[in-house]
Amino acid sequence: MILRPADVDEALAHLGTGALARAGHTGAAPPEPPVGADVVDLTGVEGLRGVQPGPEGSVRVGAATTVAELAADAGLARSHPALVRTAGALATPEVRASATLGGNLLQRNRCAYLRNPAFSCLQDGGHGCPARGGDHSRGVVMDAGGCVEPHPSSLAVALLAQGAQVELACPEGRRRVEAHELFSSGSGAGDHVLGPSELVVAVHLPAKFEDERVGHLRASSRSRAEWPLVEAVARLDVPAGTVERARVAVGAVAREPLRLPQVEEALIGTRAERGAGEGVERAVAQVRQGGTPLPLTGYKVALLGAAVRGVIEEALADPGR
Ligand SMILES: Cc1cc2nc3c(=O)[nH]c(=O)nc-3n(C[C@H](O)[C@H](O)[C@H](O)COP(=O)(O)OP(=O)(O)OC[C@H]3O[C@@H](n4cnc5c(N)ncnc54)[C@H](O)[C@@H]3O)c2cc1C
Ligand code: SF4
Repeated sequence: MILRPADVDEALAHLGTGALARAGHTGAAPPEPPVGADVVDLTGVEGLRGVQPGPEGSVRVGAATTVAELAADAGLARSHPALVRTAGALATPEVRASATLGGNLLQRNRCAYLRNPAFSCLQDGGHGCPARGGDHSRGVVMDAGGCVEPHPSSLAVALLAQGAQVELACPEGRRRVEAHELFSSGSGAGDHVLGPSELVVAVHLPAKFEDERVGHLRASSRSRAEWPLVEAVARLDVPAGTVERARVAVGAVAREPLRLPQVEEALIGTRAERGAGEGVERAVAQVRQGGTPLPLTGYKVALLGAAVRGVIEEALADPGR
């Protein structure tokens, strides 16, 4: 049965009885719900949809806001262009029309072994990782042991770069976590830490930098309808032509989206008109050297270095808004 709760409390009550949450229904995890299982449709839940300006330049985005709505929001494009550019580049127009912010963050990884009932692994309650000794060519570059499938969410990368917080609801109440805390799943099971009776309610974005410049790049095997091999997002604060603050995040290289603090530090003091400079080149080289690729993902180390350098150059050349 499809359940259509009016508000968050009603949705949580349904989840407490074992019903499964769905929003756009484009990224559901295996196993599919058994025929006849209750599904909670989150798309009509009060307070879960839309982009609302908050105090001092902050913005709240409801979890059931579609990716297409995010990508088309003119106010958000001015205040949080890195998120809007990332949203507009993922999947296809058809997918973006249904896919939601919350569902994008909580989508299941893309591993073909996980989706094949002939295999069992760390991610479905079994042992071991057949991809490790098999086809892991789209796998991680930062191998931490265990599962080798990268985190699939593009919007998660943008949220790290935006310094976002995620608002969660469970029967005991609501709480906010830093975006990266949602994905601290390590090398074990799960692509996020949310429990089955919890909901993502909204994402809270702090105000933009004073003189914000952004870059976004995806290295992909085709231009659309495909998850990226590497994704990078950069936000720089460049008042008077010098970088004063920087946030750089990358995706598709580890079990969770990652910020690159050594690159961010190396960017401070960089003059926009002179390009990235030696300090940044050294930091990018460190990122490459810090990679621990698998036998079939060595090629991604070069892609990662090129994406990080490229996204910085793009942000430094961004005229701002
Ligand atoms: C061809 C194609 C290309 C794609 N390319 C990309 C890409 O490049 N980058 C990328 O990031 N994604 C990509 N995607 C994935 C797509 O963006 C996701 O499928 C989509 O964002 C999931 O959102 P949804 O609303 O459909 O989630 P659903 O399928 O409804 O749900 C997904 C999961 O999230 C849970 N969930 C959803 N909302 C909530 C909530 N508010 N609280 C708690 N749990 C919730 C559900 O229980 C479920 O487990 C692609 C998909 C396709 C088909
Ligand atoms: S553990 Fe991860 S990479 Fe390995 S088979 Fe399972 S989902 Fe795929």
